[in-house]
Amino acid sequence: MTLTAADFPVELSPGTWDVLRGDFPLLIDGKFVSSASGAAGVTHDPATGAALADFALGDAVDVDLAVRAAHKAFGGPWSKLSHFERARLLRKLADLFEANTQVLAELEVIDNGMPMWLAGLTARNNAELFHYYAGWAERIEGTTTTPPAHVLAAGEALTYTLREPVGVVGQIVPWNVPLSMACLKLAPALAAGCTVVLKPAEETPLSAVVLGRLIMEAGFPEGVVNIVNGDGATAGAALVRHPLVSKISFTGSTEVGKLIVRECADDLKKVSLELGGKSPVIVFPDADMAKAVPGVAMATFFLQGQNCMAGTRIFVHADIYDELLEGMAAFAGSMKIGHGLHADTMIGPLISAKQKARVMSYVDEARAGPARIVAGGKAPEGPGHFVEPTIVADTTPDMRVVREEIFGPVMAVQRFEGDDLDAIAAMANDSDFGLSGSVWTQDLSTAHKMAARVRSGHVSVNTHGAVGANIPFGGFKQSGWGREFGREGLDLYLETKAVTVAL
Ligand code: NAD
Repeated sequence: MTLTAADFPVELSPGTWDVLRGDFPLLIDGKFVSSASGAAGVTHDPATGAALADFALGDAVDVDLAVRAAHKAFGGPWSKLSHFERARLLRKLADLFEANTQVLAELEVIDNGMPMWLAGLTARNNAELFHYYAGWAERIEGTTTTPPAHVLAAGEALTYTLREPVGVVGQIVPWNVPLSMACLKLAPALAAGCTVVLKPAEETPLSAVVLGRLIMEAGFPEGVVNIVNGDGATAGAALVRHPLVSKISFTGSTEVGKLIVRECADDLKKVSLELGGKSPVIVFPDADMAKAVPGVAMATFFLQGQNCMAGTRIFVHADIYDELLEGMAAFAGSMKIGHGLHADTMIGPLISAKQKARVMSYVDEARAGPARIVAGGKAPEGPGHFVEPTIVADTTPDMRVVREEIFGPVMAVQRFEGDDLDAIAAMANDSDFGLSGSVWTQDLSTAHKMAARVRSGHVSVNTHGAVGANIPFGGFKQSGWGREFGREGLDLYLETKAVTVAL
């Protein structure tokens, strides 16, 4: 690629240029290599369409090599390292992350489209995540318990439990927050003592390659982490089917999640799933409007709405319906749309032309009525896959814009009346998904009662999507299986073994 500074609206840091001028190989068994077939993909800046880099495109052959390397490492040097040595490596990786946040953030912006302020935040959060799971690596412990009576009848005995790593783990991640998705799976898996084959999304391959370099620089043994960029239907499917993989951890669409479950039924691989969402936001008449207006708008428009926990079904009490709509329409209209490298950009591009067309199909359907578009509704002309932050008011529960995950900056607003919390919860829970949600009220009792009634894995009050390293996150219903982050995130990568000893 012959990229120049003119391809970007803001000067990239020298470190990012160094990365862009280098290769984007696979990481297999501690070595950076081309794909076995020699195939390469091209990744583009979604804000301009500029080709950024060629990257090695792995397939089933590369996945097989990577899984065998991970299998060898699992039974080899990695299994000999103590918990404390694993923690030390994770801390070293966290430090390297901190030292490279600018480069990692810039790569995320140009490969994915997210605004710079968000890319910087997520890069720093990833460093924190590795520190957090380093702590857990040091605290993995079993329990002792009373042996069964029939064993005790024969004499003294002892029962204890061991927590052991699951084995080789296949981790498949989407493009919406590429680096964070990879880190939030890698950190607990490594803390637990698993080895990993990571398959990043084909739309956003760049940051994972730098992540691989930092992992090797931190001193992780060869084969502990292998990274195979490649297509879902080839590399992803091969990883899911591989007999030496003990567990698949997947983040992505509900459709592909279901496919993976069917595939894993054959050899009963362990599976954890973080899938789609269509989260409710419930605004009561006593909400603090100064906070609710920007807070509810950002519940949808954060990351251009390409966010699994986006609050996109907005239920607003009739008493404040017009006031909130008016405030959010003004807020949406004020959001700066542009290249993520500009410091004041609030809405970057969607990931692809396909995603833009998909999002606009929902907007155009809503435009036909009877719902009303009160903000946005257009896709700006010119290069880049931009869509305006769009508010669709007066929606009804049966509309596609209300029922389906759009994964774009499109909010569907419904009006409710009265104060029957069970009836309000029934509306909010009328969805196949159950990932996130938020409640906006100044009444403590309403807040907690409503949080208890929302059927989602994560509920916020007077904010939305407040997740972090130590807060379990995952879905009810078709939003997934299992919880990532926190102790529960570690448990996804551990088996419990009970040992009974007749003394
Ligand atoms: P996707 O399901 O199309 O792809 C996700 C990953 O799966 C990619 O790496 C892709 O290459 C791979 N893949 C595709 N087909 C595969 C197959 N047959 N076998 C194995 N792997 C395969 O999803 P996407 O469009 O990239 O991402 C958007 C979706 O991800 C949305 O539905 C969103 O809600 C969801 N998501 C969920 C969370 C969460 O935490 N719950 C977080 C981010 C995104």
